[in-house]
Amino acid sequence: MVGSGWGCAAGRPGGTPPMMAGLECPRCRSADLRDGGGLLECGDCGSSYPVLGRVPVLFRDAVPAAGDDPDNATVHQVLEALGLGSAPADALRVRQMFRRRASFGDEQVQVESAQLLDRLRGSGHGIDGSGHRAEEAQPAADDADALPRYRWTLLDHVPRRLPAGTETMANLRFRNTGAVAFRHRPPHEARVHVSWFDEAGKPVDAPDVRTPLPIDVPPGRELTVPAFIATPRVSGRMLLQVSFVQEGVRFMHDDARRISVRVGGAAGPALPDGWVRHSEPHRTYEEDHRIGQDVFRRWLQPLAKAKLVRVLEVGGNVHPMAAGLANVDLYNLDVDLLGLQLGDLLHRRDGRDAAFLCADAEDLPFPPGFFDAAVMFATLHHFPDPARVLAHVATRVRPGGFVGVLCEPVGHVHPGAVAPDFLSELRKGVNEQSFTASEYEAMFRRARLRAEEATIDVNSLKARLVPL
Ligand SMILES: [Zn+2]
Repeated sequence: MVGSGWGCAAGRPGGTPPMMAGLECPRCRSADLRDGGGLLECGDCGSSYPVLGRVPVLFRDAVPAAGDDPDNATVHQVLEALGLGSAPADALRVRQMFRRRASFGDEQVQVESAQLLDRLRGSGHGIDGSGHRAEEAQPAADDADALPRYRWTLLDHVPRRLPAGTETMANLRFRNTGAVAFRHRPPHEARVHVSWFDEAGKPVDAPDVRTPLPIDVPPGRELTVPAFIATPRVSGRMLLQVSFVQEGVRFMHDDARRISVRVGGAAGPALPDGWVRHSEPHRTYEEDHRIGQDVFRRWLQPLAKAKLVRVLEVGGNVHPMAAGLANVDLYNLDVDLLGLQLGDLLHRRDGRDAAFLCADAEDLPFPPGFFDAAVMFATLHHFPDPARVLAHVATRVRPGGFVGVLCEPVGHVHPGAVAPDFLSELRKGVNEQSFTASEYEAMFRRARLRAEEATIDVNSLKARLVPL
């Protein structure tokens, strides 16, 4: 029963793994991928890709790795959480899934790839965690002597035109490139510091507002911070310096960056042109996702008239939201291998046919224009550079199709008032972040896309994106 032999019960004929139509080698782009017994081999460049259960892992240079043997309680909690009952054969399968891992060679992907188990743990299913990063270590000694270093990795969310004499917020993203943590609690906590200069480099007066960090940021970690930006009272083209201060110790201007901003004029609209905002009573996450499914079904209708619609869902994990829609040939892509394997098992049990694969949404193993539509549910905001992933996903959608972005959180999480769930995700290392409507619109444009339809239900964005 164990090994790769169990995976041919239902659905796709053709043995293990099921060869998915359209797959290509992410390294050389050849479509000549062959079943090599537990892996896919590229007939052209020789690259190999692990297949875990029936789930191909199409990351460049991913290698199989041994996972932990789970205890009985964990296995049964997973079975129960997914409504799988307690048949010994299923317990064996789940145990097998835990043992099969892959190493991606990317720290952020590795963290996000363990999401299912974390979600189950966090949802009251009582699965015990070990080796978890959710707790914050107290700094052992005062490290004020060590110089923290950083690099701004994404300042694209800062508007290049801001009204004079106002205070606004924008998402900034940085990486701790030094040897010591950025601490968020006193003493000597790090805060984002912004200041202004004229084009000759002379300081321009503006209120000194500083933004605390929501968590400690260890060496190597990246974080998106919504930062306060107060603008000068005078207008003109100026340089905004984005930096950090270590309170009571030093300014950290060595790693600062300056960007050119036009100060003056009127504030842009809070809601982009043509976008609609509904402020219905608050809905639960599940209710909002059901509405998102209905919206997506409506968007698919014009494409579905004559044939099967090929859909790529990015981030669907164990329960892809596009599953079960009529006339849809679904490819569910995620980085969570346990979730994908369980999802594949659940789907085949329900008699549904969907392809589950583990791959990089910024390096999709499919040819351009392969899909009729692509969709993400509450997924886009997890990527370090959402515009970059959108632009790439859009290349795999055919002319006349669309990219659906559904149930994305809208609004900045206010520093100092961060929701407990959000903080907990951040502490685990998950790339949790949230954007305003105008930041979403700007990232769509950077991806050369525009929202043909965009609705914000309280704080959940649903946008149908087409080429500019
Ligand atoms: Zn190849």
